[in-house]
Parts: sequence; C-alpha cells; structure tokens
Amino acid sequence: AALGAISHPARSVDWPTSSSGSRLAYSSEIFGQNVFTLKALQQTLPKPVFTRFVQQIKGRQPLDRPTADAIAHAVRVWAMDRGATHFTHWFQPQTGTTAEKHDSFLTLKTSVNNGVEEVTAIDAFSGSQLLQSEPDASSFPNGGMRSTFEARGYTIWDTTSPMFIRPGPHKTAVLYIPSVFISYNGEALDEKTTLLRSSEALSTAAVKLLRVLGDTDTKHVYSTLGTEQEYFLVDRSLYNLRPDLKITGRTLLGVVPPKHQQLEDHYFGQVPSRVLACMSECELELYKLGVPIKTRHNEVAPNQFEMAPIFEEAAVAVDHNLVLMETLHQVAHRHKLKVLFHEKPFKGVNGSGKHCNWSMSTDSGDNLLEPTANPESNYRFLLFLVAVLDALYKHGGLLRASIASSSNEHRLGANEAPPGIVSAFLGDHLTEVLDSIEEGRPLKNFVPPHLQTVKVGGTVLDLKVATLPQIARDLTDRNRTSPFAFTGNKFEFRAVGSKQSPSFPIVLINTTVAASINALTEALAKKAAGKAAPSNEDVIAVIRDYVKATKNIRFEGNNYSQEWVEEAARRGLPNIKSCPVAFKKLLEPAHMNVLVSQGIMTEAEVKSRYHILVEKYVKDLIIEANTLKGMIFNGVVPAVFQYRKDLADSLLSQKSLGYDIAGLPEKATLDKLTKLAVELQAHGDELVELIDTINAADEETQAELSSTKLLAVMESVRHTADALEQITADKYWPFPKYNELLF
Ligand code: ADP
Ligand code: MG
Repeated sequence: AALGAISHPARSVDWPTSSSGSRLAYSSEIFGQNVFTLKALQQTLPKPVFTRFVQQIKGRQPLDRPTADAIAHAVRVWAMDRGATHFTHWFQPQTGTTAEKHDSFLTLKTSVNNGVEEVTAIDAFSGSQLLQSEPDASSFPNGGMRSTFEARGYTIWDTTSPMFIRPGPHKTAVLYIPSVFISYNGEALDEKTTLLRSSEALSTAAVKLLRVLGDTDTKHVYSTLGTEQEYFLVDRSLYNLRPDLKITGRTLLGVVPPKHQQLEDHYFGQVPSRVLACMSECELELYKLGVPIKTRHNEVAPNQFEMAPIFEEAAVAVDHNLVLMETLHQVAHRHKLKVLFHEKPFKGVNGSGKHCNWSMSTDSGDNLLEPTANPESNYRFLLFLVAVLDALYKHGGLLRASIASSSNEHRLGANEAPPGIVSAFLGDHLTEVLDSIEEGRPLKNFVPPHLQTVKVGGTVLDLKVATLPQIARDLTDRNRTSPFAFTGNKFEFRAVGSKQSPSFPIVLINTTVAASINALTEALAKKAAGKAAPSNEDVIAVIRDYVKATKNIRFEGNNYSQEWVEEAARRGLPNIKSCPVAFKKLLEPAHMNVLVSQGIMTEAEVKSRYHILVEKYVKDLIIEANTLKGMIFNGVVPAVFQYRKDLADSLLSQKSLGYDIAGLPEKATLDKLTKLAVELQAHGDELVELIDTINAADEETQAELSSTKLLAVMESVRHTADALEQITADKYWPFPKYNELLF
C-alpha cells in the first residue's frame, strides 16, 4: 500500500513540447494557455470595444450591453477553437466548494426558406448569457434568508477574475465564467460577493490613509493572498474500503502505528515517485489554468504534502485555491490516489492547514507591509502594521469564528496548530521597534556585531565557512506556534483549515483592517488639526497610542504552552475552544457592526451565515456519528463475533481432546474480546440514543449537544473499537488499518 512502493504504475502524462517540438515547453510557455486573458481579449476585440471594457472595469462601472455582446462573441470563438461545447457560471456557495451548471452553446434558429419555416442549429453566446444566469437558489445554503417559494438567485460574471476552459468529456472543454451568486434582492448567497465588497472597503480606507501621508499616485490598494495548501494522499483502493474516509473525510476508528512521525523523517523528504507524478501532472493542469504554483514538498506527517502558489490579488487567489483543490482531486484520481483535504484525517498524526499569507499592495505593486531596512522610521509601514494589530485585537474572536468547523476543531489546540487564542507574532526586531516607540527612546542596537545591516529587509549571517556564500537573514525568525505571524513582509494566518475556502477569513481580515485604518486616519487628522498635513511627531504620537492600546494582542512565546493559556486569560483575550461558541461571535454587536457599518454584509447576511455555520456543524457531526454507528454494528461487531466464534470452536475442540481450557491462551483472548465487545455494544447503544435525541432537538441545543456529548460518546466508541483492533487477528478486521493507509 505504501505510496513509495509503486503498487500501481503511475499513469504519466507527457510534459508538452514547445511549439517547434524541439524541446519540452517551459512552464512559462504553458502558463495561462487555457485562460482568456486580457491579452487574448485585446487580440480578439476591436480596439474601441476593448478600450471601453478596460475603462469600465478600471472605473468600476457596470458593463454596457454592446461591449458585453462583443466580449461574449470573442470568448465563445476563443473557447470553441479549444473544443468548448458548453459554458458555465462558476460560483462559490457557502458550502466551502464551488458550483457549476453547464449550458451548451447550441441554439436553434428559425428562418423562412422559400416560404417554409426551417429550424437550423447554430452556436451562440450572448452578452446577457455571459453577464448573468439564474440557478435555483433554494437548494443552496441560505441560512433561512430565503424560503423555497422565493427561490430566485442570480449568478453574475465577476469581471475581475478571468474566464478559463477546463477539460470536459471526449476531449471537449467547458468555458468557466467566474461569478458571484446573489438573491433576487441582492443579498450575498456566496463567498465571493462579500470578498469583493471587503476588498473595496480595504482599498478605500488604505487610499485615504495614503493621501494623508502625501501619496497622490495610488488609486487602488488590494489585499494579496498566498495559500499554502496541505493535504494527504492515500491509495484509492484502500480508501474505498473505509466508509469513514469516504463519507466524512476522516478516520473515525484506527490505531496509530508504532512508527508514524516521531522521527521527523517525512518532512521535506524525497517525494515518492507515484506522488511526484501526480503532483507534476496537477501542476501542469494548473499552469494551463494560470495558477502560479511555486512550491511542492513533503509535510510532517506520513503521506502528507504541501503545494503553494505565488501570491496574487486575494479574490483571484481564492479562485485559484479552489481550482487547485479541484484539480488535485481529479488528477489524484487518475493516479489511483485519493486526496484528503480534511484537517484531521488521522488521529495521532499531524493534521492539515491552509496558511493564508496576507498583505496589502498598492496598484503599483508596493507592499504596504514591507518594513524596509529601517522600519523604525518607515511611518507608512508602521501605520499599516498597527492597523492590523488593532484589527486583530478588537476582532480576534471574529477571526476565530471564520476558521471554526467540525473538522478544524480537531486540529486547533491539538499542539500542532495554533490554539483557540488569537494573537500576533512580530519577531525580535519589530518588537523592539514598537517597544522603543512606546517608551519614546532610541532603538537598542541589539543586532550582534557580525550581523551588520547590508540588505533591504535583512542582515547578513556569517556561517564561519569561507566557501559558503553570504546569505541574507530575514528580519524575523519563525514562530510556528503563532496563529497570526508576521513573516518578513506579510502576515500568515495559520489557523485556517485545509478544507475550507480561504474566502471568509480574508473577508474578515480585510474588513477589520479597513475599519482600523479608517479609525487611524481619523486619529491622524485630529492630531494634525489645522495643519496641511500631519507632522512626523503627529504620526509617531498616533503610532504610539496604537502600540500601547494593542500591546496585549502581541505574543512572542510558545502558543502551545499552558503558561500562554493563563497569560492570555490575564490579558482578557478570548480562548474559544468550541465551534458553537466561536460561531456566536458573529452575532456580538461589535463584530456584527464592523461588517454592517462598512457595507460588507447586512445584518440579515451575517445572521444567515451564522445559521449556515451552525447547521453545517451539526449535520457534519450527525453524519459522522451515523457513519461510526454503521462501521461498528455492520463491521467491527460482526468481525469480533466471528473471531470469538472461531476461538470458542477451537476451545471446544481442544476440550474434547481433554485439554483444560481454563489455562489456554485462546481463553484469555476470548475473555478480553468478550469484555470489550460488551463495552462496545453499550457505547454503541448510547451513540444511537444520542443521535435520536439530537435529531429531535432545536438548532441551538443540537449544536450544544453535538459539541459536548456527541464528540465524547464517539470518542468512547472509538476507544473501545481501537482496543479491539489491537487484539483482533488481522484477517478478521473489516477495514484497512493506519499501517496500510499511511505506509
Ligand atoms: P514560507 O511561509 O514557507 O516562508 P514563503 O515565504 O515563500 O513561504 O511564502 C509562503 C506564501 O506566501 C507563498 O504563497 C507566497 O507567494 C506568499 N507571499 C509572499 N509574499 C506575500 C505577500 N506580500 N502577500 C501575500 N502573500 C505573500
Ligand atoms: Mg508559511
């Protein structure tokens, strides 16, 4: 079963050759082949139409119909030349995944031929078909916002994300139109609408602050996002034999083998060839789709891997992360593998996260969180930095809600992922910079003498080996335990789950930071009242106020330690351990208000999201409980019965031969099995009863019971089943074991 030992030969697709056929194509030549880029649009549209389109997008105006018609025609021809038969509005309902409904380009046209009506088939795609479509909204989660009798919903082309084609059956293709999904009354039913709104809010706030600082060039600021995606790969034939993996994405039973990750020999190890073939084919597909995959490597746990792209504008980066997950899923299938995105597929080994690297950039590509060589005098950097700290300090609880799910709950706080306490790590250097500002003293020269500053953003490290090149050291070391760590020139939100869409966490970062930037800009204006622009002293005074006020959110130590739990309590930082508590944060006035006041979400939209989250949480757990029930009563219990029967038969025949069965090892095993089987039956019955109770309760009670009682009962069922697994002969055990799945 081990992925390293090629039990199934990898189905390898050849890397494409260059257009001349003389060599393999460069990645850069493949990149974006299947994307209808701005350049492709420019080549196919008449110049004035293209200019109008760009003006309308840049000026954030609605597209006019003739322009839309021209684009629709151009993209249809482009897509059909590449085999497309269908188009789809591709959108992101609040399910964590994407949705699509395909329509063909086929249209019937009636004409009159010699006085006789004649129907002919043509291919057509109009501007209005490009701009919007109407899926039935009632079958997507809406958190009670829509009733089934008012089911209209619209998908609308998101002009900021390019269209692309993906392979369909029989070598055909499908044209994908990235879209938002809203209700008849314009409420957001998806992840993307709010993300776009939050990006606008952030841009407006940041541009305003930049104006105060004398920057008149920047017209737009956007948030940048780079997602490090972790995942497991397992053999598909074994996966198919595990109902828990198939139905819930995680193992509900199973004993950790004697060797798993203790030796830390998997991290950055050589990628097994079968996995490498899968990764590489996935990268090829992603390059074609314009997803800039950069990094691939083994992760900490056995069979765990990571893939990371070059960062992009946040909404595009979210689209690309979802495309990455879908592509990996499909390609893994072709390699007889199954990709697991669940945050904790295996008990006792590390789970998976999706580190969200976030920053803000001006329209000329200037990173606003770039500290440069002298952050202490880089006021622009310091202002944006303290705005982020302020956002985190005021709305850490809200951010915690954005990463809460039944699956991520197994990871958070399990000493492998950040705990339920949100704090920020800045590193020694920036901590000293902020401390010196707070205390109104000069910066301590704490950099050791051999580490002189020579490079923007870094220092040189002397390796004391003359043949090694000099290397630039980063401004900060790493702190892998921090949920929100400053890593050089961006923040890394580490608590985000591997399975979830990165969208909502980014919405909340954008939104809360925008609010803090606005407040900061106001504070600056107040300090500088009567002057044309704030003086350096004014700026420092505001920064100092913010440094003081947000000090409690900064933590440089070990986030996994008990001391931090106690220290955080003294600081009054929330430590949110369970999902139902986290979800409630959305409804707290201060958190609700930061979203509503900036027009990111209406109160109804926030409440609807709350209900969707709670409902999904309960459903996930009930599905897990029912799956476990099935595995116990249809799998484990009969297997144990069979083993017991064989042991009993053996004892009987030995007795008939005159043995004293009391002293036989079969008897000892049979006794243990019996004791555990009785225990398992009892826990199983308890589980069944609890499922019934929860099914009959109201939403609030369901969530409460699921997070407390249900998880505990499932744990005791598992505990007993795992004990049985350890004494049951392999040939009886009905499911592939961790040993087989992971090695
Ligand atoms: P690591 O976190 O392992 O140090 P990197 O620093 O190379 O890895 O970056 C991790 C991710 O962060 C990558 O996806 C990278 O593109 C992204 N990233 C780098 N700079 C920024 C930025 N300014 N904004 C958002 N993401 C960024
Ligand atoms: Mg990282």
